[in-house]
Order: sequence, then C-alpha cells, then structure tokens
Amino acid sequence: MELPDLHVHSTHSDGEMTVAEIARLARKRGVTAAIADHLSPYHMLYDDDAFDAYERDVQRHGLYLSAEYCIGETIPVTPDRLDRLDFLTGGLHAAPDGTGEKVFFWSDKDVTDANAFVENYFNRIRETFENEPIDVLAHPTYLPLRLMGHYDETWTEDRVRRLAELAVEHGVALEISGRWRVPRPQALEICLGAGATFSTGSDAHHASNLFDLEYPYLVIDELGIPEDRLFRPATD
Ligand SMILES: [Zn+2]
Ligand SMILES: [Zn+2]
Repeated sequence: MELPDLHVHSTHSDGEMTVAEIARLARKRGVTAAIADHLSPYHMLYDDDAFDAYERDVQRHGLYLSAEYCIGETIPVTPDRLDRLDFLTGGLHAAPDGTGEKVFFWSDKDVTDANAFVENYFNRIRETFENEPIDVLAHPTYLPLRLMGHYDETWTEDRVRRLAELAVEHGVALEISGRWRVPRPQALEICLGAGATFSTGSDAHHASNLFDLEYPYLVIDELGIPEDRLFRPATD
C-alpha cells in the first residue's frame, strides 16, 4: 500500500522548497503529495491575493491543494477560497495554559499544569470541529516539547476516545504525522477502535524529511489499519 504525503510546506509559507521542486521530487519518487502551507496571520499566506497566487502555483504543478490554518486564529481568506481547496487542514499551534496565557508549541515556556493545558487543547479542537470547516486535523495530540514527557498521563484513554469520537462525528481525518510521530501507537489504537479515519503527512519544511512517512507506514502496519480508513483527497 502506497501512502500519500498530504502535508508538505513550500516557500509560500515557511518551507524551504518551491512547489516546483516538491513536484519534481514527487514525480521522481512516485509519491502522491499535497501542499498544505500555513494559512495564517503569522505567515505569508495571509490574504486573498497571496492565496490566489498559491492556488495557481500548486495547481500548475499538478499537486493536491490544501492549506493548514491555525486553530483558534481567524482564517484570513474568504470561505469560497476554502471551498476551492482539495481539502482543508487545521493544526493547533498554541493553547492557553492553566492561567489562560497562550503557550506556543515551539516556545520553551514552562507549563505548570499539563493536564489543564491539554484540556484547553482538547476544547479548542472541539470548538473548531463544531464551528469551522476542517477535513484533516494536523499532528493530533502533539504537545509542546516540554510536555511530551507527560503524553500518556495527559492524553488519557478517555480524552483520546472523546477526540476520536468528535472526529468521526464531524467527518475529520486524524493525521498520522511522520515528523512528530503522533498520535502515539496506544492513542492510535483507541482512535482506530472509535472508527476514525487517518491521513498521512510528513509536515516537511525541508528536503531532508520530504515524504518521510516511516512512522505512518510503521503504525499502520503494526495496528492493521485498513485501507478504507485512510483519507484520500477526492478526485474529480
Ligand atoms: Zn502544524
Ligand atoms: Zn504543518
């Protein structure tokens, strides 16, 4: 079974490779790929004009067109533009800690109450599933580095199951991330049992991990995730 890489960043946001270069490598390696650049006020893809140029570039090179918006932030383009995507990705990159202060995932800020942070994280995702368009949840259960040591005690069986059930209810695929190696196998098993569908992506920003789907291949094989539970962009 060949897995597609449905989460690649290009120079339209913070990736190092151009869309042309990614397309060339995808052809060379025979990988189906989607560009999912950051659609966010923090990146270059922050308005309609930038989006239109992005859309033209990705479509010209024959790749699937996605975009990764920041959950909890305003989506900076019109809804009809989102409809033109092959699928829409949402990723959580910050959540409030126990005191209500926003913690960005890449910051090295200490989080004193890991459990409160993950509950806030979960609630943000729930609100997004209930109120925003989204097809794929990027790197679900990923935590700021300092909290990754608390993964099992914060992503409890109950919380993971609630996340998976919400995803099923709202038709959102959960990404298995090659770069972040989440969800971890135990969490994935719970999601599988809850009936979830899974997407696969490298979250590559550089050539060094472009199409790196080692982790998705490994866990899909280990857990016996069937092909009909894997998300594929609709072909038209
Ligand atoms: Zn992300
Ligand atoms: Zn990403």
